[in-house]
Amino acid sequence: MPAPQNDARRAALVKGASKAKIKALVSLDGCTGCEVCIAVCPVPSCIEKFADEVPEAKGVYVNYDICIGCNLCAKDCPWDTIRMVPTPTVAMDQTSLDSQLNHDHAVFKQPELVPEELRGFVAKAPKTDPVVLELFGKQNPVVPGLMSPK
Ligand code: SF4
Ligand code: SF4
Repeated sequence: MPAPQNDARRAALVKGASKAKIKALVSLDGCTGCEVCIAVCPVPSCIEKFADEVPEAKGVYVNYDICIGCNLCAKDCPWDTIRMVPTPTVAMDQTSLDSQLNHDHAVFKQPELVPEELRGFVAKAPKTDPVVLELFGKQNPVVPGLMSPK
């Protein structure tokens, strides 16, 4: 259960997160919306899920302004669909939705699935940063790591 949010707490989180050298990027290609990352993330509301009532929109996204780069989500994601990327590669992005490698996911057709203030990702081009592309180069979104260590 996330800790209650208030303005002072959020401000402290943003300050701490601004020093993070890496951020968690969830690729929606492989994300199943299993919520393991949400359970392990120590920062309340850092990882958010799309509405459960829209089955074609499985997945979660990371709020970069409060991600502290702790790596817990990437380590535990059973579908191996999170990469810790250098902060400068996502410096102009608000959330991991802005950093997607392609725009195949349903959220790009239904941006109303996320709060209005986060919908800037719709106007962005897919991510082409070579560092980010290389980090996802070995991703296998088909075979989950549920039964074996990564
Ligand atoms: S743990 Fe991985 S597959 Fe599960 S919701 Fe998080 S990013 Fe998606
Ligand atoms: S790196 Fe840490 S703070 Fe950032 S989304 Fe993952 S678990 Fe949360």
